[in-house]
Amino acid sequence: MAHTVTFIPGDGTGPELAEATRRVLEATGVEFEWDRQEAGVDEFEAHGNPFPDATLASIKANGVGIKGPTTTPVGSGFRSINVLLRKELDLYACIRPCKAYPGVRTRFPDTDLVIVRENTEDLYAGIEFEQGTPENAQLRAALAALGAHVRDDAGLSVKPISVFGSERIVRAAFDYARENGRHKVTAAHKANIMKFSDGLFLEVARRVAEEYTDIEFEDRIIDNLCNQLVSRPEEYDVVVLPNLYGDIVSDLGAGLIGGLGLAPGANIGTEAAVFEATHGSAPKYKGQNRVNPTALMLSGVLMLRHLNETEAADRLEGAIAEVIRKGEKVTYDLKPTRDDPSAVGTSEFADAVIEEMQS
Ligand code: NAD
Repeated sequence: MAHTVTFIPGDGTGPELAEATRRVLEATGVEFEWDRQEAGVDEFEAHGNPFPDATLASIKANGVGIKGPTTTPVGSGFRSINVLLRKELDLYACIRPCKAYPGVRTRFPDTDLVIVRENTEDLYAGIEFEQGTPENAQLRAALAALGAHVRDDAGLSVKPISVFGSERIVRAAFDYARENGRHKVTAAHKANIMKFSDGLFLEVARRVAEEYTDIEFEDRIIDNLCNQLVSRPEEYDVVVLPNLYGDIVSDLGAGLIGGLGLAPGANIGTEAAVFEATHGSAPKYKGQNRVNPTALMLSGVLMLRHLNETEAADRLEGAIAEVIRKGEKVTYDLKPTRDDPSAVGTSEFADAVIEEMQS
């Protein structure tokens, strides 16, 4: 039976990446019924709403979606569609595998770690009070009454980290480790400084870890983790982090494995899962058939695994890895120099992956 999946091309380079991904997914032989929905800047400009209700309703109904990146205008316009999506669907776990495939130029060829990022809390919760507003003054007054004095020209962002949120993300990390043959979970935090937010996260992580005696557990202070990741990434396996650290370390992880064009992701909740690359819409390359579709294709591999299409997932991942290993029909970012004339486009990369699957 065909899998009905919400298909969101996004904006910027999103539509060309999504099209390349759709083609390789179909070439696995797995049957899909794509429920195409819009989101992003183009949709905002055409109809005044970057994230139509129909798009959300479609993911809710189908339970699975794959999404190209969408632009978030800085400082004005609208709030991030990605943040809205994660909130509305309670997609609390962001899973980002960072694996260095042979053939990729990286100083860390043995990297094979998985970042598990909490997606709903922390400084990303959007609880902010602009400097100079009455609400900001009210909050500062309440803080002052509690003995916490903040300059009156300060903007305020609140960092909530709950027992509930920490418990379910740490559990997601251990469950992922178990289901995917991983042996260690590392929890990252800054509990020495933020005792009641990161400290709580660490305390909960230690408690949950006691239930998973088959998986090793350790913790790292976030700055130390960053240092170690760029020295000895092969020592890390599954790394679980609160939202903001998870965001930053995801890009660090993408750097370790050869760039943003290679880093996939999955946003998982109890009712739905949305698969998307770690990178953004790279708008300066829009419409040029130039950027690397690997990250979104590998997000498609994660989707196939989620749909229990394991054999197709292995085959697609193997074909992508082989195209990268051969290094011929790859995009500019995987060539020795960025202006290498032998680089192929987004669509030709997809052709090469399809050819590899059929060989
Ligand atoms: P970006 O990830 O879009 O691009 C940064 C640079 O990384 C690009 O200029 C390019 O050099 C490189 N790059 C990214 N993807 C690539 C690919 N597939 N192949 C080859 N090179 C690639 O980051 P940005 O410029 O900071 O963000 C652009 C927009 O995307 C912003 O509006 C941001 O908010 C949004 N964004 C969206 C998502 C999402 O939809 N999930 C995620 C991150 C950022």
